[in-house]
Amino acid sequence: MVGARPNMPKAAPVIRALSATGVRQVIVNTGQHYDDAMSQSLMRALGMPEPDFDLAVGSDTHARQTAAVMTALEPVLRDRAPDVVVVYGDVNSTLAAALTAVKMGIPVAHVEAGLRSHDFSMPEEVNRRLVDHVSTLLFVTSPDAWVNLRTEGLADERAIEVGNPMIDSLVRMRDELDFAAYRAELALPDEYLLATIHRPSNVDDPAQAAAMVALIAELGARVPVVLPLHPRSHGPLAPLREERGVRVLDPLPYPHFLAALDGARLVLTDSGGVQEESSFLGVPCITVRTSTERPVTITHGTNRLSSIADAIDHADRILAAPMPAPAAIPMWDGRAGERIAAALGPWLDSSTGGHHG
Ligand code: UDP
Repeated sequence: MVGARPNMPKAAPVIRALSATGVRQVIVNTGQHYDDAMSQSLMRALGMPEPDFDLAVGSDTHARQTAAVMTALEPVLRDRAPDVVVVYGDVNSTLAAALTAVKMGIPVAHVEAGLRSHDFSMPEEVNRRLVDHVSTLLFVTSPDAWVNLRTEGLADERAIEVGNPMIDSLVRMRDELDFAAYRAELALPDEYLLATIHRPSNVDDPAQAAAMVALIAELGARVPVVLPLHPRSHGPLAPLREERGVRVLDPLPYPHFLAALDGARLVLTDSGGVQEESSFLGVPCITVRTSTERPVTITHGTNRLSSIADAIDHADRILAAPMPAPAAIPMWDGRAGERIAAALGPWLDSSTGGHHG
């Protein structure tokens, strides 16, 4: 079950590893992100097979989007009768698919279980908590997630630490592609800050968005800023198009984005995935949020949380002195997809072939 940009790099390694075992998979793209840059081009870059079903739900309110996925998915699950439905991350499609499957008596496997921001104003926090509680298999991507699952009474034989499949995709891209060539294609300068900002807390409120615009403009006066804009941020961050130190781009294709991240002097973000990717690559990261569901990126990686007001000081410190290389994060080694496929094996009925929704 895929459907939004952050889930494609998590799903691709699992689908590939399951294919290698000969399991029959049914791939459903809910189409929560539907434009080419956010969805299809990413799937192509990751070498994912064409989805068997495209539910094309598109953008909508939370209730309508969740309901649309559930309504469209139910007949697919009834028709295909999978042994397991695999869901990823924390988007509305993840919750919708998990609820639909569990009520049809189909076991749900949640990849990226146990992450918690403890901030219920984030839609993702609602999604990830509920999904964990209805899942039969909980695939844990970092040690801190165990603690959260234990607190909620979920850290039993259902929970399996497997590593981070998003890092599998990054490792594969880095090994296969010439990142320097992608950076040259983008004509990136030698030193730059890469920024990705799209969380409601930073762009929906006009005062917060104005403060974010002022911060990024100020950063652009210190070091060139490259800002691939998520569709949610087009309006609120539009004034940055007038700033000389800021290069505003459309969302970058995944290989180009990773290449830009790999070469960046520092990153300013509110993305979940980018905190992990920058930590793995050893690129200093300032996360403009009050909480992170990925604390391992702070304890082991390159990440720090900051208010908008404090971010300039963090940036100055990072620009003034190189950071020591971060510690390796356990099991973030490019093999998570294989571990997940192996753990799913016993759940898949070999006579019908397993299914992967
Ligand atoms: N990404 C991309 N192009 C961009 C920005 C991000 O391909 O211009 C990728 C990035 O490498 C990561 C994923 O999108 O794998 C993160 O998605 P996003 O920030 O939308 O979601 P979040 O992780 O915050 O849920």
